[in-house]
Amino acid sequence: MVGLFVPNEFATNFKLLCSCTFSKITMLLPIFALGQPVLKKVAAPITPDYPELATLLTNMWETMYHADGVGLAAPQIGLSIRIFLADTEQVERKMVREHDEPFKRVFINAQMLDENGDPFTYEEGCLSIPDIRGDVERPSTIRVRWQDENFETHEETFAGINARVIQHEYDHLEGVLFTERLKPLKKRLVQRKLEAIKAGKVATEYKMKFYNVR
Ligand SMILES: [Zn+2]
Repeated sequence: MVGLFVPNEFATNFKLLCSCTFSKITMLLPIFALGQPVLKKVAAPITPDYPELATLLTNMWETMYHADGVGLAAPQIGLSIRIFLADTEQVERKMVREHDEPFKRVFINAQMLDENGDPFTYEEGCLSIPDIRGDVERPSTIRVRWQDENFETHEETFAGINARVIQHEYDHLEGVLFTERLKPLKKRLVQRKLEAIKAGKVATEYKMKFYNVR
């Protein structure tokens, strides 16, 4: 009997070797902080020949989950391209979800076709602007057209939390941050904190990249 028997020790080593190789191909990306010019740019569409797209998406998911995020847009990792990810299962289930089942999706070249419905206020936060949260009012229902990771086109209506996460991430593609949508009083209250973040004076569990800060 030669050949088929694999000693346990070898199997363990083999597994270790595999996970090592795996961790080499997924990479946590630094998150670009408020003050980085890329966050204020309108991002460009991409085509299916975008280099290493699958690796980029894997790294973005990894980075988002590591930072405990619900969504992540490419400008937040320094790329001015029209990609964002969202996993709304991550949102605490504080709201009744009658019509909005949670989803996990990649949105490429998203277009906001319509925003309507009653204005809805919800407290937002952003991985690029740590430790700041604030109420933002947006229309409650949206219609979006986008392409998935295989460049298949989809068009769908979203409401509630799902709509909110998409609206926040879509804003990133347009160079808009949620802090610009806060009420004037709240904006004034957080101004000093925002300046501190720009200057890199903030501690996070995840790696960040600040503009002009050594
Ligand atoms: Zn954000």
